[in-house]
Amino acid sequence: MTIEASELSPACFGLETWGRPLSEYDGCFSYQHLKSAGDRPISYDPSYFISKDKVDTVRARIMNTRSKKPRPIKPSIPQEAIDACEASWDAANEKKRKVDPKRHDASSVFVMTCRHSQVLFLCNIDTPGERQQCIVACLEEVKDLIPLHAKILQAYDVGCVMDHSLNLVHFFSYPILSAGFRERVSFVINAMHSFGHQWVCQIVYSPCLRRGLCLTNAEGVERFWSRIRKLIGITRNQWNLHRIWMIDQYTAFVNEEGRENLGSWIH
Ligand SMILES: [Zn+2]
Ligand SMILES: [Zn+2]
Repeated sequence: MTIEASELSPACFGLETWGRPLSEYDGCFSYQHLKSAGDRPISYDPSYFISKDKVDTVRARIMNTRSKKPRPIKPSIPQEAIDACEASWDAANEKKRKVDPKRHDASSVFVMTCRHSQVLFLCNIDTPGERQQCIVACLEEVKDLIPLHAKILQAYDVGCVMDHSLNLVHFFSYPILSAGFRERVSFVINAMHSFGHQWVCQIVYSPCLRRGLCLTNAEGVERFWSRIRKLIGITRNQWNLHRIWMIDQYTAFVNEEGRENLGSWIH
C-alpha cells in the first residue's frame, strides 16, 4: 500500500472528530480470470489490492476458527430470518461456486469504498467459494487507518449473515476479527439490496432505519462497478498480474476524479 488514508478520502479520514465512519463492500463476479490466459511476474506494487499473502493468512484463520464448535448465541434477528436471507442471496453462500475452477483461477474482485464512493481497498478472489476472507482482510486494513476509538459501520449486501457469523465464532481465543475490534464493527445492508431481505432483517439492518446514516444509501460500490465495467472483457484474458495492474491503475484514475468532484461538490 503506498497511498495515505487522507488521500483516499479526505472527507472520511481527514476528520478531527469521529463518529461518522462508514464503508461499503461488494464483489463483482464479472471479473473472472481465465486460467488459460496464464500469468507472468511484473514489477508492480498495487496501491489498492490487498496482497494475496494477507488474504490467505486471513482465510487460514477463518478456516481454523470455523473448525471449532460455534458458541450458542441469541441472534439479533430470528434464526429463521437469517436462514432465509442466507438462502436467497448467493453472496451469503460461502460454499456456492461462482466459477468452474478448471477454467478460472480467479472468480471475482471485491471492493471496499468509503461512503463517498472512494475506493479504499480491492481484493482478488482466487478461490471458487469462500469470500469472507476478503471483507475481513479489508476491515483489518481500515482498522489501521482510523483512531482506536473510531467505529466502522459496514454496509454489505448480506450484512445480516456476516454479522451473525462473526458473532458465532467470537471466542476470545479464536476470533476472526481481532479481540476488541469486533465490538467496533457494525453492519447494515446497502439500501437497494435491503429490500430483498426478510422484513424483520430490514428493520434491524436497513440503512434507512439506522440512526446516524441519514440519507446515505451505501450503494457507492455499484457506481464504482459501473465506472470500470469496460475492463471486464479486457482483463479476463490478460495475464493475471496484468489484470491486477490494470484494475488498480484504473481505480486510481476513478478515485482521483472522485476526489476532484467531491471537493467541488462540498464547495
Ligand atoms: Zn469518504
Ligand atoms: Zn438479511
